[in-house]
Amino acid sequence: MTVDLHLHTTYSDGSFSPKQVVDMAKKRGVQAVAITDHDECRGYLEVKDDKDIQILSGIELSADFKGEAHVLGYNIDCTNKALIDHIEEQSVSRIKRAHKMIERFREFGIELTIDEVMQECTGDVLGRPHIADALMKKGVVSSTKEAFTRFLGRYAKCYVPRAKVDIAKAVDIIRGAGGVAVLAHPGIMPGSVWNELSGKLKDYGFWGIEAYHSEHSKGKIRELESFAIASGLFVTCGSDYHGYAKPDVDICGEQAHSRYLIQSLKELGIKCT
Ligand code: AMP
Ligand code: ZN
Ligand code: FE
Ligand code: FE
Repeated sequence: MTVDLHLHTTYSDGSFSPKQVVDMAKKRGVQAVAITDHDECRGYLEVKDDKDIQILSGIELSADFKGEAHVLGYNIDCTNKALIDHIEEQSVSRIKRAHKMIERFREFGIELTIDEVMQECTGDVLGRPHIADALMKKGVVSSTKEAFTRFLGRYAKCYVPRAKVDIAKAVDIIRGAGGVAVLAHPGIMPGSVWNELSGKLKDYGFWGIEAYHSEHSKGKIRELESFAIASGLFVTCGSDYHGYAKPDVDICGEQAHSRYLIQSLKELGIKCT
């Protein structure tokens, strides 16, 4: 049983369309996937009726808890009004933020226009990877990595944070759309933030945590899964595949060997064989 419940597409900052991503997953023998674009869920509607692979609806909401926290939602109604309203608000605020970042570039003598940035963006979720692509096209930098190190990274000179919703609100939006909320990649959160958040997950209404993630070590996965079992939370697995933006990460198709992971996947409605 191979499952990948964390995939990005051109609806946010992934390199490939939902159809291309689903086709790649099928070629790799993955049996169930979820499309989890940043602050966007409509990619699922393009691929949902596939006879050869099980496809779950999904989203990865950007939220705030002592800094940035990502909240995955599964089995959501992608046409839910409150969810769509939230997606549209985020889309507008991302454009405002890009304007602010362009202003910073100007202060450093780099002329970048909103049109140049928009040209790199395939969906409605304008993000730093698109700014990085525009900088590459202009020859300001030669790689995404350089763009983030010199200009766009959290501590770099042109970084502007995004407007984010409180983590409790993110969970409520997902549950309001009929879905379940899962804390994304807890293993890459600063330890102090995880220590503070972990005891509150049940109170916020989280259903599970993404214990299995491409950036978690085997030891981290074991630790997170034990924590989930002890806390009455389920676990999920995902690669966080983006395509070219994260060249080291492939659609992995987690081999679901762990009994608790299989139990959790069944709980999500995945047909485990
Ligand atoms: P944004 O949503 O605009 O804040 O951009 C976040 C996205 O930028 C992440 O999902 C990653 O795809 C990408 N990203 C963040 N940090 C880096 C980095 N250091 N190198 C490459 N990509 C990054
Ligand atoms: Zn991303
Ligand atoms: Fe994330
Ligand atoms: Fe992601």
